[in-house]
Amino acid sequence: MSRPTILIVDDEIANIEIMNAVLEDDYEVCFATSGQQALDLAREAPPDLILLDVLMPGLDGFEVCRQLKGDPLLADLPVIFTTGLGDTDHEMRGLSMGAIDYVTKPIQPAILRARVGNHVELKRLRDQLASMAVTDGLTGLSNRRYLQQSLTRETQRLARDGDWLSVIMLDIDFFKQFNDTYGHPAGDRCIKMIAAALMRAAKRASDLSARYGGEEFACILPGADPRAAELVAQEIRLQVQSLNIPHEGSRVSPIVTVSIGAASARCQPSRMGDLWIEEADRQLYRSKQSGRDRITVCDFDSRRIETC
Ligand code: GH3
Ligand code: MG
Ligand code: MG
Repeated sequence: MSRPTILIVDDEIANIEIMNAVLEDDYEVCFATSGQQALDLAREAPPDLILLDVLMPGLDGFEVCRQLKGDPLLADLPVIFTTGLGDTDHEMRGLSMGAIDYVTKPIQPAILRARVGNHVELKRLRDQLASMAVTDGLTGLSNRRYLQQSLTRETQRLARDGDWLSVIMLDIDFFKQFNDTYGHPAGDRCIKMIAAALMRAAKRASDLSARYGGEEFACILPGADPRAAELVAQEIRLQVQSLNIPHEGSRVSPIVTVSIGAASARCQPSRMGDLWIEEADRQLYRSKQSGRDRITVCDFDSRRIETC
């Protein structure tokens, strides 16, 4: 595991050297000698914690803190102010601005180490919780909550230029039979393997694969038109096929197969993300109804529907 990163901000090099000596054995330490440099560094590569001097020429610590807290990408970054001893007003103002703590100068190594250690650990736990809240425990894919959030974000972003968005929904065929034949643990392993196959198929950096529920999955494909969605769907089907998982209880194939529905449309401000989910689900139902182990794609602008 990589070491947490601490950004030390102080206009006096001597202070940076003292704090660095305390922290360098346990953390990756980087430093800035002005408020502006601190903001630039934090935006370029957000650290795990910032030790921020209050009194600096140019942008002072309060202003740096205000700008950090106003930036959605950096607002959660823990800030500890470093203030002169007995500077109660500064401490109060810093805490009221969203700093989590302060340490007083001259620096006492044991106190600095303990406070930094506590807050880095709290941040690690917070990050872990935030990640668990959007991840599916079995497969490691994004969960349904994260899918919904991404869909809202992507539809808004793509609507600015009226770009394409496609959503794919897929469901394992006769999966109840699979569990009945091989047992739930084998069913869980099958779900994990399908998830991995999905990741291999929808592999563009902007694609998002999620477990929608039970044995259903969904992919968001920003920028993908109906043709591109169909290609990804075919790739998913191929990847699942090549897993070659025996499925005696299936009525359509000796191995595990999936049914797929895809919906494509250009984004518009009036079109909500749920529209894609509903339409993809409708096409998935068509794939099931017309024999399973197949793909149905709908361009819901032209209402053109193709099953293959
Ligand atoms: P169809 O081809 O129409 O999709 O039939 P199906 O049997 O796959 O569909 P159905 O909705 O009847 O059953 C889904 C099954 O998926 C039932 C449920 O026990 C199983 N399932 C859902 N989530 C999990 C899971 O996390 N692990 C395992 N092992 N099974 C699951
Ligand atoms: Mg199923
Ligand atoms: Mg299902």
